[in-house]
Amino acid sequence: MPVEQLDLARKLVPGRECGACTVCCKVLAIKAPEFKKLPEVLCTHCTEGAGCTIYNARPQVCRDWHCGWRCLAFLGDEWRPDRSGILIEAATGDIPPDFPRRHGIKFLLRKGALNAVLWPPLQSAIASLVNDGVPVFLGIPGPHGYEGRNIFLNYAIASAAAARNRGAIVEQLVIALEAGVRAEHRKIDLDADD
Ligand code: SF4
Ligand code: SF4
Repeated sequence: MPVEQLDLARKLVPGRECGACTVCCKVLAIKAPEFKKLPEVLCTHCTEGAGCTIYNARPQVCRDWHCGWRCLAFLGDEWRPDRSGILIEAATGDIPPDFPRRHGIKFLLRKGALNAVLWPPLQSAIASLVNDGVPVFLGIPGPHGYEGRNIFLNYAIASAAAARNRGAIVEQLVIALEAGVRAEHRKIDLDADD
């Protein structure tokens, strides 16, 4: 499965467009020198459901970034983030040091869409990636102004994924979701160096 494509962010699936989706312009924290915004705050340049009002002059960070749905051909139209409630991102941090692969994938659940763990296509995608040895995270949004938490899934879900035991996969996803919701979330300082 070509998860490394997410690193390139420019290998877009031909013919796949954002359409009415504006999820990343609201959900993501942006901490680039030229542009900053808090997560879960609609960018002032965004018309929700329509797009960027300064598209031709948008900041470089916005030009360079695309979600996983734009980059991964195996995902169908139902995975567009405004339809699925799930924003897919590359994930290279927080992978355990002994884990063999260093390019992972994060399924960030949108606020209000936390029950997406019950969506069978998400369970199937996670099981396939885990079986392929790809580092996989469940992303849980934090309270307003706070960072989300990423829960590493591979070790917890390995046996359920190998057996394609959907009930056990759901059980582990719910445990991960609850852990992410309960976890301490760090307040975001947009001006701080990470
Ligand atoms: S989340 Fe993905 S599909 Fe939606 S606007 Fe952003 S890049 Fe486009
Ligand atoms: S500047 Fe445009 S592309 Fe960038 S976050 Fe705002 S609305 Fe989205």
